[in-house]
Amino acid sequence: MFAFLRRRRRHKLLQQPIPSAWRPLLEREIRYFPLLPPQTQEELQHKMTVLLHEKAFEGCGGFEVTEPVRLTVAAYAALLLLNRETTFYPALHSILIYPDAFVAQHQVEDETGMVWETEEVEEGESWAAGSVLLSWKDVRRDKRKFDGRNVIIHEFAHQLYDTADFFSGDAAARAAWVRTFDEHFEKHANSVERGWRTFIDEYGAEDEAEFFSVVSEAFFEQPVKLRQRHPELYAALRSCYCQDPVKYFDQV
Ligand SMILES: [Zn+2]
Repeated sequence: MFAFLRRRRRHKLLQQPIPSAWRPLLEREIRYFPLLPPQTQEELQHKMTVLLHEKAFEGCGGFEVTEPVRLTVAAYAALLLLNRETTFYPALHSILIYPDAFVAQHQVEDETGMVWETEEVEEGESWAAGSVLLSWKDVRRDKRKFDGRNVIIHEFAHQLYDTADFFSGDAAARAAWVRTFDEHFEKHANSVERGWRTFIDEYGAEDEAEFFSVVSEAFFEQPVKLRQRHPELYAALRSCYCQDPVKYFDQV
């Protein structure tokens, strides 16, 4: 579709009235929702409208995608897009939801150039090719508490990272951001290699993309602790997400 048509359609979608059935459902299903200021709750729901319209939600392995399922995924996905202009995960076409952890097949190339097929059990996965895969069992587990784990935030943060749609500052601000981010990644990878206990999930030592996803989970779910332990990293994430989640939790 032409970019200007998409923009016009999005503009219309963003003006649409929000279904009244959403609010009670969001209040019940999304622990984050009541923490947001009223105006932000409105913005979240408008951005959800665009996501629900533009992305395909598919149940896999016998999973049935109900309205609460669609709204839950869209709500967390929209949380990462608040307070800023966004391209709404431009590479993403479909969200595939499995009832439980699924087996993902990967092709891995070794140093000699040989390609191997591997299978891994996953809770979620984000493909640059245009899909996010989620296990509903894990989504439900993560929804219960703010423990720094949230598979939806994790996978959608991958989408932002892959499309570099997470920072809108000028070149100098961006360079400073990358420096802070890289420093923290190096430090984290080092600590994990030495076997030290870290506040940030050790899976973040895997590579920069995983680091961005796990610190995004901590940023939204445990912002007070993240800011205490890594104030510069917290500030960097605050500028890229245009949000200060500590404030959401202050009001609790
Ligand atoms: Zn990941």
